[in-house]
Amino acid sequence: MTSPTLADLPPLREVLAEHDLLANKSFGQHFLLDLNITRKIARLSGVGEGDVVIEVGPGPGGLTRALLETGARVVAVEMDKRFIPLLEELSAAADGRLTIIQGDALKVDMAAIAGGPAHMVSNLPYNVGTPLLINWLTGPFRPLSMTLMFQKEVADRIAADVDDDAYGRLAVVSQTVCSAKVVMDLPARAFTPPPKVASAVVRLVPLEPAPDKALVAALEKVTAAAFGQRRKMLRSSLKGLGGGALCEKAGIDPDARAETIDVAGFQALARAVMG
Ligand code: SAM
Repeated sequence: MTSPTLADLPPLREVLAEHDLLANKSFGQHFLLDLNITRKIARLSGVGEGDVVIEVGPGPGGLTRALLETGARVVAVEMDKRFIPLLEELSAAADGRLTIIQGDALKVDMAAIAGGPAHMVSNLPYNVGTPLLINWLTGPFRPLSMTLMFQKEVADRIAADVDDDAYGRLAVVSQTVCSAKVVMDLPARAFTPPPKVASAVVRLVPLEPAPDKALVAALEKVTAAAFGQRRKMLRSSLKGLGGGALCEKAGIDPDARAETIDVAGFQALARAVMG
């Protein structure tokens, strides 16, 4: 018997029922079962034939199918063993262009599984979305691009401008390494089961040249101190790093508060910390 192709696969709801699978809350499982939505995310990611994509948390494989339909090769990391047989069926329908890794994405060596340059496209589990993003922004593996679904509130914090309420550490670190833009909003009802909050897709593209690792490390220190006490003036919140003298060295007003300092201003402070 020949294997079905991607076009022959049954609807995702049927596949879940056939494998007797229900969402498990402890894995942050909220599925996208509408292929129109997952195809839109795949389009927004810009990936296509010849690209390698890492997907964290494929679950029932709705986004995975859409990524495979573009002609890309997908390496998917899923922690929940129950989904592996279903994903193997999907791999067979895509001429083996899907490689499945069962494990925790926080522990997997992404560079090793990608085997070369790769894009990251995922509907991330909410409980580990931010630590995963920080790993990809600051760790050794640098994706070619990232198209990632987060809780809307987290997506806004990544892409925030200095005047926005959501502006803080995550915006400064993300936007030092990448350009960051919210490209799609999704209501909770788009997911099965629906989460308590709305979601959004952020697209991040690494800036060239890549910032120095030491600068990013210094920036993490400065932003932790400054936004840890965001209502205080920088001369006071940055006391442990040099306070007023540090601000003056960086050309930043020591009486200003963290939320009024733009990304370039924080980079100047980080350079001053580096000496
Ligand atoms: N991509 C699917 C979709 O859009 O329908 C599922 C998304 S669901 C929000 C998150 C997925 O991540 C689940 O399949 C869950 O089992 C998986 N997951 C949770 N924690 C994980 C981890 N640490 N590493 C890898 N996968 C994880």
